[in-house]
Formats: sequence, C-alpha cells, structure tokens
Amino acid sequence: GSSTVICTDKTGTLTENRMTVQEYQMANSRKIDISETDETITLITKTDTLTDENIQRLLRVSFLCNESSYQKQADGQHKSIGDPTETALLAAAEKFGMDSETERSVYKKLREFPFDSTTKRMITVLQDKDCLTFAAMKGAPGVILDLCDKYISLDGTTVSLTEEKHADFLKLNEEMASRALRVLAFADKNIKDSVDADSDEIIQQNYTFLGFVGMSDPPRIGVAEAVENAQTAGIRIVMLTGDQINTARAIARKLNLSEGAEVFALHSSEMSESSGEKLAEMARRAHVFARVSPEDKLRIVKALQGAGEIVAVTGDGVNDAPALKQSNIGIAMGMRGTEVAKEAADIVLTDDNFSTIVGAIEGGRTIYANILKFVHLMFAENLAEVLVIFAAIVIGLPLPLLPLQILWINLVTDVFPALALAVEPSSPETMRRKPHSPNESMLSRNFMFLIFWQGLMLAAIALAAYLWALNEYGAGKHARTIALLTIVGVQLGHLFNCRSRSHSAFKGFFSNPYIFAAVGIVFVLQIFAIYFSPLAEVLEIVQPHSTDWFVIGLSLSLPIVIVEIVKAFKSK
Ligand code: ADP
Ligand code: MG
Repeated sequence: GSSTVICTDKTGTLTENRMTVQEYQMANSRKIDISETDETITLITKTDTLTDENIQRLLRVSFLCNESSYQKQADGQHKSIGDPTETALLAAAEKFGMDSETERSVYKKLREFPFDSTTKRMITVLQDKDCLTFAAMKGAPGVILDLCDKYISLDGTTVSLTEEKHADFLKLNEEMASRALRVLAFADKNIKDSVDADSDEIIQQNYTFLGFVGMSDPPRIGVAEAVENAQTAGIRIVMLTGDQINTARAIARKLNLSEGAEVFALHSSEMSESSGEKLAEMARRAHVFARVSPEDKLRIVKALQGAGEIVAVTGDGVNDAPALKQSNIGIAMGMRGTEVAKEAADIVLTDDNFSTIVGAIEGGRTIYANILKFVHLMFAENLAEVLVIFAAIVIGLPLPLLPLQILWINLVTDVFPALALAVEPSSPETMRRKPHSPNESMLSRNFMFLIFWQGLMLAAIALAAYLWALNEYGAGKHARTIALLTIVGVQLGHLFNCRSRSHSAFKGFFSNPYIFAAVGIVFVLQIFAIYFSPLAEVLEIVQPHSTDWFVIGLSLSLPIVIVEIVKAFKSK
C-alpha cells in the first residue's frame, strides 16, 4: 500500500507471453508474412519457400536450437511445453508443413548452450545423418549479428558481411521492433572437425546470418486499466526488460506508461557509467529500461530507493533474487518464476498478472485507511471518557462513573465497532490519493487536532446530559446511569463519523453491514445490562424513564449532526 514506484518486467507480466510468429525477414531480403495465415501456408508459397535454402536453414535452426516441444495430439489440439518464445517458432514451422519431432529425429545433438538473459543467445551443436557437424544459434539481434561474418545474399550465395550490410540489418531489426515485435535473429555455421566442435571459442564466432523472426505478444487484458489506476494513485510504473528498446517503447506506448508524454526509454548501456545521483535522476524520469541485466535491475532499485522511493519490483529468474531482496516489496512470479525468486520475494503473484499488483496496492491502502479509522474512533472516545471524569472532578461534581461501569463501557463500545471499522470496504478515493509519504507519521498534526476537538465534543455532550440528570434526579445511581448511557450513546454515534474524515457518513451508508451488526450487538448488550436485573445490580444501572431515553437518543445523534455540519462546511 505504500509503494511509490513499481518496476515491472514486460514479457508475461504486462503482456500475455503468448507469442505468435508474424513474419520472417531473411538475410536474402525475402520477407514471409504469416500473420494472416492460421493453418498451413498455401501450396504455392510452400513449395516456393521450401526450395529456398535461406528459409530452409532458418527453419532448421528454429527447431533445432530450441528446448521446447510442440506436439499435435489426438484431439487435434496442440500441447506445448517450454518457453513461449520457443514454442512459437515450432508452431510457425508447422505452417510450412514441418513437424518439429520428425525433423529433430534426423539430427544428433552434441552440445548445447542454453539461452540466458545475460548472454541473450542460445547455441546448439549438431550432427546430421551424413555426419556433418554444424552449430545453430539464435538470440537477440545485436548479439547474433556481432558473431556473424557472412550472410546469404539475394542470389543465394554466401557472401561476407560488410559493416554497411551489418548496419542495414540492424536497421531492419529496429524497424520490426518499433512495430512492437519481439525480434530474434538466426545464424548457423559448419564445423569441419570435432576438435572445433569442442572449442568454446570457435563455437562462438564466424556464423552465417540467416535472418530475423518477428513475433507479437499482445498486452494482457486489463493491464492498460491497471496502469491507469496506478497512475491515478500517484504510483509510477517503470518497465525493466531484457527485450530491445524499440519493442519495449512500442509496448510502453500502447499501455501509456508515460501518461500522455513522450515515452522516455533508456538502453542499459546508457546507464552503465552513471553512478548514484545521476542514475537516480535517470530512474526517476525513465519509463522504460531496455536490455537490462539482473545486475542493472539491482542498481535501478537501489538508485530509486536512494531517491526516497518505496520500490516494488517483479522478477522471475534466479539472477533476480538480489533485486527482489533489495526492494521494499519483492514480487515473484508464481507461474513462470523460479523457486529461488519465490524464496527471495515478499509476495508471490500466483497469476503473474500486473493488474493483481495494483489490486494488492489498493488492498494495502484500504487496510492502512481502516487502521486510521479505528485509531480515530478509539482515541476520540477514550479521550471523551477521560475528559468527562476529569471535568467532573475539576468542577466538583459527584463522580459520573464507577470503575466497573468504565470497564463495561470499554468492553461494549471498543470491541465490536472497532472490528467493524477494520473491514470497511475500499472507497473510490483510496486509489485517487497520492501514496502517503514514508516520512509522515500515522498521527499527523491535523489528525490529532481532529481527534482532540471531537473527543472534546463527545465529552461535552455526555457531561451536559449528566448535569441535566443531576439537576433532575440528584446525585446517585440514576444520574450515573444517565452518564453511562449517554457515553455509550455518543460513542456509537461517533462510530459513523469515523467511517470517513471528509465525506458524509450517509454517503455509502449501507456499504459495510458489519457497522450495523456492531451497533446492534452494542444495543442488545446494553439493553440486557439495563433489564436483566442481576447484571443491572452489579453495574448499578437503573431503568431509564422515557425522557431519559430522549436524552440518550440525543446523545447518539448530536455527534453525527455536528460532525456532518463541519464536514459539509469544510467541503464547501
Ligand atoms: P524479456 O523476457 O524481458 O524480453 P529476455 O532477457 O528473456 O527478456 O530476452 C531478451 C532477448 O533475448 C529477447 O528480446 C530475444 O531477442 C532474446 N531471446 C529471448 N528468449 C530467447 C530464447 N529462448 N532463445 C534465444 N533468444 C531469446
Ligand atoms: Mg524472457
């Protein structure tokens, strides 16, 4: 409830993590758009593409350098296991009539370097049925292109990758990313002897670039509204993603992370040299940090905290643990998160959904607001009791309450009304306020003043009733009964005042049925204490006359009337 910034990852939290391949952009300049194709591609394009060596090799990499599985089941549905980025590649290959299991069975896997978000690439070394060894690689475009020195040209020959062509490919990648596509690059290389296959160094250079695949991952339903709700609540949202800057910016724009302004996106390299203050300044303005590593995440969280923010951060990987620990609220993903991340986090999000975080903030704020409500009630009404007794002593009146009666009042009026206030529903203002400042104490000056004047008012009403009773019945049991019943009365009335500091008690009057249950319980207990003679004797309560009931009724309604007038006056 106190968070001021949410640092969230993109894939799977803001977006569906349901990837679908939209297009292939091959090194030989061909483009195959499969976004409109739901089943298999028409035969013409299929035969045509299958004689194209470039697309063949690209497809081969896409299912060989891939840890997931995607199988057709008896009922015609598909069962996919693994990273959605990878299963999307298998699903797309199927549109070309290629079944991943059949294709894979021809090859023998020799080595594998799995994908991780630091290297941002994956390499597999394989051997085909003719015992030819080759390596297949896929990963983030910039990373892959840096490891390539050749590409397949327009006429199908393999030519060397000039700097100029390298820049052209990067531009193509940027163009795809700016359409919110997640871009993966593909490359392969032949390996002549087994010594080379074993060398880590040789495995990581001189690849032939094959092309890009662009996939889309739509924003999750409800996330745009959740983002807006968080922003209205004065909470800033910063996207930290391993994805590239253009894709991240496009998604940020779709979700309006920048609240109408131009999206300010930073690449992790731009923050690499900045330290402390400079970084904090960046982190306070940026909406997106792209290409971040888990270490960058930790630094961003620290910088924000240094600037006085209360930071909630999401994470799923093993490497995210330090950032989750460092943050004020570490949020692990329950579905796709690792056990390590869950252990390090404060909260595990079982549905991995950003909207749930905003819902939890509303829950936290409501609890805090309700604590303040019953602090308001408790302090004001106990102050009133003290003041009544104190004033009576000072003026020299006979004691208005006996010790046992004071205990009775506290038992009846403190327990149930306070419990009812604790379950007050969230009000619409909860998410329209700014987060409360971490330095601000629970009892602000204004709040203490409010408690004080209202306590004083309650005491004055009860004291006036007692004075009237002294005049009417003289000192003794009857006058004390009036004092006791009016003190219970003002406290019950004040319960309604404490439901909101600024709004009328009649706005959403019936929104919390527990309030009425509490009033009912107090009422029944009090009636019992009056008319059940053994208890009445112990408490020294006498049966009130009808004029007495009128006075008691006044004591209940007067606090509400006075506070309502003050509230109305203030809101004007
Ligand atoms: P995020 O999930 O936030 O996008 P990642 O670190 O997982 O960040 O991915 C960063 C980049 O690495 C992606 O943009 C993509 O190009 C590439 N990538 C993602 N998953 C894989 C994978 N399984 N194999 C190869 N490359 C991948
Ligand atoms: Mg990922």
